[in-house]
Amino acid sequence: MIGVTTVATGVVYLAIRLAVVGIAAYFSEIQVNDRFKDPYLTVPLSIVSIIVQIGAIYLVPQIGFYFISIIFVVLGFAALRMSARQTGIVWSAATLGLALLFLMTDKPIGIPMATATERALALACFVSALGRCASAGLYGSSMRELLYRRSNDLAAANARIEELAQLDELTGALNRRYIMKCLNDEIAKAQRNATTCCIAIIDLDHFKKINDHFGHPVGDEVLRAFAISVFANIRTIDRFGRQGGEEFLLILPDTDIDLAIQTLDRLRSLITELNWSAIAQDLTLTISAGISAIRHNDTPEDILARADLALYSAKDTGRDRVVAAPQKRQFS
Ligand code: GH3
Ligand code: MG
Ligand code: MG
Repeated sequence: MIGVTTVATGVVYLAIRLAVVGIAAYFSEIQVNDRFKDPYLTVPLSIVSIIVQIGAIYLVPQIGFYFISIIFVVLGFAALRMSARQTGIVWSAATLGLALLFLMTDKPIGIPMATATERALALACFVSALGRCASAGLYGSSMRELLYRRSNDLAAANARIEELAQLDELTGALNRRYIMKCLNDEIAKAQRNATTCCIAIIDLDHFKKINDHFGHPVGDEVLRAFAISVFANIRTIDRFGRQGGEEFLLILPDTDIDLAIQTLDRLRSLITELNWSAIAQDLTLTISAGISAIRHNDTPEDILARADLALYSAKDTGRDRVVAAPQKRQFS
């Protein structure tokens, strides 16, 4: 005899608990648990643990307080993994077991208190059970923290996916679908607020010759360098996208036709003056642009058609130039 129970009791109790853990680990190893909706087998394991504790209280009631405190620990940890329904099931099992024990038997559930050693051991048992309950809480809060971080990562990944879905892969300019959406939005905004807004269709001159003479990869590099140069020289409110091939669309909100012509001409001369021979020897590039201003009741097709006509005119009259569509009835 040591204290109020035998060493053998402790060993048997420990062996049973280790056996439960061992069986659970074995199920996990042979992956039998993967077939269940609750792969951690939280409900059956918790119920088995509770049965073990209640059995222990029945057989060794003189230290029953210890086994009862373990039931708290079991339920505290299990609740972290269980749904409300599962928690209800396990709680009901614990309640049923305790009710049977309390109401159907007359076992006195003891806390050994007779000697100073017993009191100290009882205290140690309580304190360790409390510590385990607290670590269940800590585990729960670390899971919440992890969840919070994961959801932040997910939001950032989603934002990145959305951003990539708006970009043209080759040039990094907005893609056709997105620049058309921007055009719709900017037209609606300009018409609603009666503000000015211009668009420009920019087309690279004799691009086919560049491809033919220097090869397609050089053509691609030219498209990239052109797009980067435009980006570096427009305002943040301006929208720049690739309509297709070597044709781009620039949307200039809050910009009247004179300022739009000035802006496009600045871009045109800047592109002409770039050191294109850094990409391929003797390479040069010019661009042509057709500009139109948004009018009251314009549809995207109307404004694009006028800009296209102006672009044709720029091509017809020798390229390397900016032409504005005739101005009339703006917001009249
Ligand atoms: P213009 O001055 O009249 O605009 O003549 P252009 O040669 O620029 O126009 P055209 O429409 O005849 O040729 C456009 C060329 O652009 C043809 C096509 O092969 C090339 N192109 C379209 N998309 C790409 C691309 O992504 N990469 C490369 N390298 N070339 C492309
Ligand atoms: Mg062209
Ligand atoms: Mg073209």
